[in-house]
Amino acid sequence: MGARPRPANLFGIPLHIDASWFVVAALMAWSLARGYFPALYPHWPPMGHALLGLGATLLLFGCILLHELGHSLVARRHGIRVACVTLFMFGGVASIMDAPRTPWVELQVALAGPLVSLALALGAAALVMWEPAHQLVGPVGLALASYLAIVNVMLIVFNLLPGYPLDGGRVLRAILWALTRNVRLATRIASALGMALGLSLAALGGWRVLRGQGLGGLWYVVLGLYLHRSASASFQMARGGG
Ligand SMILES: [Zn+2]
Repeated sequence: MGARPRPANLFGIPLHIDASWFVVAALMAWSLARGYFPALYPHWPPMGHALLGLGATLLLFGCILLHELGHSLVARRHGIRVACVTLFMFGGVASIMDAPRTPWVELQVALAGPLVSLALALGAAALVMWEPAHQLVGPVGLALASYLAIVNVMLIVFNLLPGYPLDGGRVLRAILWALTRNVRLATRIASALGMALGLSLAALGGWRVLRGQGLGGLWYVVLGLYLHRSASASFQMARGGG
């Protein structure tokens, strides 16, 4: 570590921001400022779209951070060590050091993140639907809140896909572990599904690239391959040692 600055700390959990995050955050702010917000609010000035894009990107990553903190704090409450939370190009990840000891603990840790996202989505949606709040937050606050409601629902749906190491895959592993009482078998099944999910995502991305949706399609290809690689590492690990 030496001369490196101390990382920021959240509830005693170090926060790392990977260099790849800055690239993706810049791309995302740009695409929101040039595509998403101008389509919804065509009469607002371009500078307004740019600031909205930047604000929405930072708030989205704030939501991702809270999601990961959800996993981390529940894990820590069960005596599981959490090394750090990292923001990187695919979102966030909590580096949980110890394997959960029981399926029930695994289930709680896995569901904590999506439950935080659900609370954020509901809070943002309530702000959009509850008219007395509109004057308080103004049109800009409303635009951000409706974006956050949508994007948190998308985060929940994606994270709950049943492929390990996604949250949904961890939920599935916990259930299979409880049913079979065999954590290795449960991990093998859940991570095999994760590998299949990763390849499907990459194939979907490839199809989108062929249809001319270059950047968006490429994103799915890279994300799918990353998911496939992580799942296959878990599969290999659960295969060793019987
Ligand atoms: Zn999660």
